[in-house]
Amino acid sequence: MQRTYLDWNATAPLLPAAREAVVAALDMVGNPSSVHGEGRALRMLVEAARRDVAALVGAAPAHVIFTSGATEAANLVLTADYRMGRTPLAVGHLYVSQIEHPAVREGGRFARENVTAVPVTRAGLVDAGILETLLQGHDKASGLPMVAVMLANNETGIVQPVKAVAEIVRRHGGLLVVDAVQAVGRMPVDIGALDADFLILSSHKLGGPKGAGALVSRGEVLMPAPLVRGGGQEKGHRSGTENPAALAGFAAAARAASAGMAERNARIAGLRDALEAGMRAAAGDVLIHGADVERIANTSFFSLPGLKSETGQIAFDLEGIALSAGSACSSGKVGQSHVLAAMGFDTALGGLRVSLGPGSGEGDVERFLATFARVVSRRRMAETAA
Ligand code: PLP
Repeated sequence: MQRTYLDWNATAPLLPAAREAVVAALDMVGNPSSVHGEGRALRMLVEAARRDVAALVGAAPAHVIFTSGATEAANLVLTADYRMGRTPLAVGHLYVSQIEHPAVREGGRFARENVTAVPVTRAGLVDAGILETLLQGHDKASGLPMVAVMLANNETGIVQPVKAVAEIVRRHGGLLVVDAVQAVGRMPVDIGALDADFLILSSHKLGGPKGAGALVSRGEVLMPAPLVRGGGQEKGHRSGTENPAALAGFAAAARAASAGMAERNARIAGLRDALEAGMRAAAGDVLIHGADVERIANTSFFSLPGLKSETGQIAFDLEGIALSAGSACSSGKVGQSHVLAAMGFDTALGGLRVSLGPGSGEGDVERFLATFARVVSRRRMAETAA
């Protein structure tokens, strides 16, 4: 059966250019920390990857720390234990938006009692007014406040008002961490323009290999205590021999994400709009979350009254269509959407997420809509029988 992959927010298929870069690097002998020729060749490859990843978000290459993925980057940056140069500096409390990916929402290395969730509005946007009130009440004696707000939500695609959040954070002398995992390649991302202190990135959402990511910082003076200690690689911020193959693939994906971004996303937005128009025509009661606010071009998150997300996901899968019921749980089970819950929706129903990518085409939308029509008619039959 022909498969239609509509789950690019879970992971993007490996780009051919990334695959080539990975394979070429796997065949290179040496350790990037060795001083001989073999080692130096791999060091050059790692540093070139750093430049490509930095360019993706307008950062200085020296401000990119490579990690094993976004989850590790989040655990590195979300800590009470900071250094300003050599001087220890405490972060007292983490304020984290309710719709963050679990990688961030779990609070990293902060003690649970030092993490506060910041609600979102019914429209799915972080509530700036509540954040302001929370920061006004922050106990400065405990240390600086840290705020974590993602740029684009992985379930809904809704773009968060990060600039406005940054203004509030600055007024209160705090630190801002932005999970840009789903935003890069899908909208321009610039660490300076966002006024973020740290960005979190992941390779496999861009078409690079899984198991690579980065923490990007605004400067080099204010840095978190390392999470992984050892031989002092990544300037001591993340020890362990680098994975040059994964980083070369990450860099190839970053270059591809930067190139022709506006045209690519305009085309993808066209596909997404056609898909949503088709769903509305087939089911007048379909609820498309975030349709009235700014979203990244590739994501459509919807609920269909009478259709449980788990049932819907299985029905689509059986017809050859891979989509997701919100975020994928590690257990493979379909969990309730914490994002819909945060937006105040009935989570018993749940939602289904279609996410497109550069490899998606009109045929994918047509196949999805044909299946959607069958799912809707089966739902009607079930309603009539009930
Ligand atoms: N943040 C967001 C918004 C994500 O969508 C994901 C991946 O699902 C992550 C973080 C975690 O990324 P990684 O798989 O690189 O650890």
